[in-house]
Amino acid sequence: MSAHIGVTGLAVMGANLARNFARNGYTVALHNRSVEKTDALLNQHGDEGDFVRTESLQELVDSLQKPRRVLIMVKAGKPVDSVIEQLTPLLEDGDIVIDAGNSHYEDTRRREAALAEKGLHFVGIGVSGGEEGALLGPSIMPGGSRESYDSLGPMLEKISAKYDGDPCCRWIGTDGAGHFVKMVHNGIEYADMQVIGEAFDLLRSGAGIEPAEQAEIFTEWNKGELSSFLIEITAEVLAHTDARTSKPFIDVVVDSAGQKGTGRWTVVSALELGSPVSGIAESVFARGLSSQRDQRALAQDVLAGHEEQVQVPEGFVEDVRQALFASKLVSYAQGIDMLTSAAKEYGWELKLDEIASLWRAGCIIRAELLDDIMKAYADEDRPENLLFAPAFAEAIAAAVPAWRRVVATAVQLGIPVPVFSSSLAYYDGLRRKRLPAALTQGLRDLFGAHTYRRIDAEGTFHTQWSGDKSEVEAVDTH
Ligand code: NDP
Repeated sequence: MSAHIGVTGLAVMGANLARNFARNGYTVALHNRSVEKTDALLNQHGDEGDFVRTESLQELVDSLQKPRRVLIMVKAGKPVDSVIEQLTPLLEDGDIVIDAGNSHYEDTRRREAALAEKGLHFVGIGVSGGEEGALLGPSIMPGGSRESYDSLGPMLEKISAKYDGDPCCRWIGTDGAGHFVKMVHNGIEYADMQVIGEAFDLLRSGAGIEPAEQAEIFTEWNKGELSSFLIEITAEVLAHTDARTSKPFIDVVVDSAGQKGTGRWTVVSALELGSPVSGIAESVFARGLSSQRDQRALAQDVLAGHEEQVQVPEGFVEDVRQALFASKLVSYAQGIDMLTSAAKEYGWELKLDEIASLWRAGCIIRAELLDDIMKAYADEDRPENLLFAPAFAEAIAAAVPAWRRVVATAVQLGIPVPVFSSSLAYYDGLRRKRLPAALTQGLRDLFGAHTYRRIDAEGTFHTQWSGDKSEVEAVDTH
C-alpha cells in the first residue's frame, strides 16, 4: 500500500497530525528516529486508519506515492536541518518536504531556497491549536510554492479546523510566509493574554472582585463582542479552586510567565521592519518583568508607590471590558499592519481577509471578532489600518471614554497596565495631527546634521546650528 503522506517525528504533535490525516482517510507512513514512538502510536491508535510502519527514512520515502509528501515534525532548530539533510538525497524532483513545526521564518526562507536548487519543494507550515488542535483540526498557515499547495492543500484543508464549514487553511504565500503569519499570530496571542491579565488585575486589585466572581464576569463577557477561546478559558481558570489549599488556583501559581520565543521573534522582526507593534512588545516585556523575581522582591522595600487611594469609578467593570476590547483591537491592528509591512519587504501577496478567516477556528486566538476582521479586508475598499474600517472605527470610538478612565484609574492606583496604556498611546499617536517627532528631527539635525524636511517646501534641509543658523538645502540622508 503506498501512502499519501509520510510523517517523521512522532512526539505529541507529529503523532496527532498523523492520526488526523489517517482519521480523514489518508494512508500515512510513520517514521521516528527511535522506533519506540512509532510502535507506541501504532499500538494505541493503529486502528484509527491506514498506517504504514517504517524504520528508516529510506523506507519512509519508498512507501510514498509520487510526488512524495514528507512532513517533518521534529524538534525545531538544528534537528530540522539534520532531518532535511538526511532526507533530500533520497527524494526526486518535484517531491515536497514539509516542516510543520515552530520554525523561524528566516530558517524556512533559507531551507526553501536550498531545496529549490535541488528541484524539491519546501513548505513551511504554521500550525496553531496545540496538541488537541493537531488531532481534531488545527488552523493551518502554509507557505512554499503555489504549485506545492495544489498537491498538498486539499489534504491540509481536510484535516484543518472548520468555521461554518470553511477550512481554516489557505495558501499564505511563498517561502517563509506561512511561518511568518504563524509567528505574528503568536505575537497577537501574547497581547491577547496580557490584556486579559490586566483586566483581571484591575478588577481584583482595583475593584476587589475575587477570582470566582470574576469567572462569572468573564463568562458574561464571552457572550458579547469579546467572545473568544481565551476569554472562555480565562473563566475556567479563574473558577478553579486549588485542591491542596482550597484557595483560588490563581493564587497558588507563581506569577512569572514563561515563553518559548515566538513573541520575542515577532518583536525582533517588527523592530527590523519598523513596524510599531507596541502592544505585542509590551506583552513580551511584561512576561520578562514578571520573570525578574529577585528584582521584584527587592523593589518591595526600595521603591515607593505613592498610590492614590481612589475609588474606582461607577461602572468600572463595564469600563474595563471596553478598555480590554479596545486594546485587543489595537493588538490585532498592529499585528495585521506588521503583516502588510512584511509583505512589502519579502514580496508576499498576503491576503489579509483569508488570514483572518483561517484564524476563526482551531487556533488559540480564535474569536468572533475575526469574522468581522475578515469582512473588513474582503471589502474592495480595504482599510489602510484595521482601525479605519468603519465598523472598527466606530467600535473603538465608543470605547474611548471608558478606556481613558480605566488607564487613568490604573495609574492612580499604581496597577501596571502596559498594553492598555500603550495601545491607547498608539491610538492617540495615530490620531494626532502633529507629533513631537518634529522636535526629534530638530535635535537630530543639531547634534548629527541628520537633516529634516519642511512642511512648506520640497527637499531636505539642514540648519547650520553652530554658525549663523541659516538653512541650507542638503543631500537627503533619510
Ligand atoms: P518535540 O519538539 O518535543 O521534539 C521531539 C521529536 O523530535 C521526537 O520525535 C524526536 O525523536 C525528534 N527529534 C529530536 N531531535 C532529532 C534529530 N536530531 N533527528 C531526528 N529527530 C529528532 O516534539 P513536539 O511534538 O512537542 O513538537 C514538534 C514541533 O511542533 C516543534 O517544532 C514544536 O515547537 C512544535 N509545536 C507546536 C505546537 C503548536 O501548538 N503548534 C505545540 C507544541 C509543539 P526521538 O523520539 O527519536 O527523540
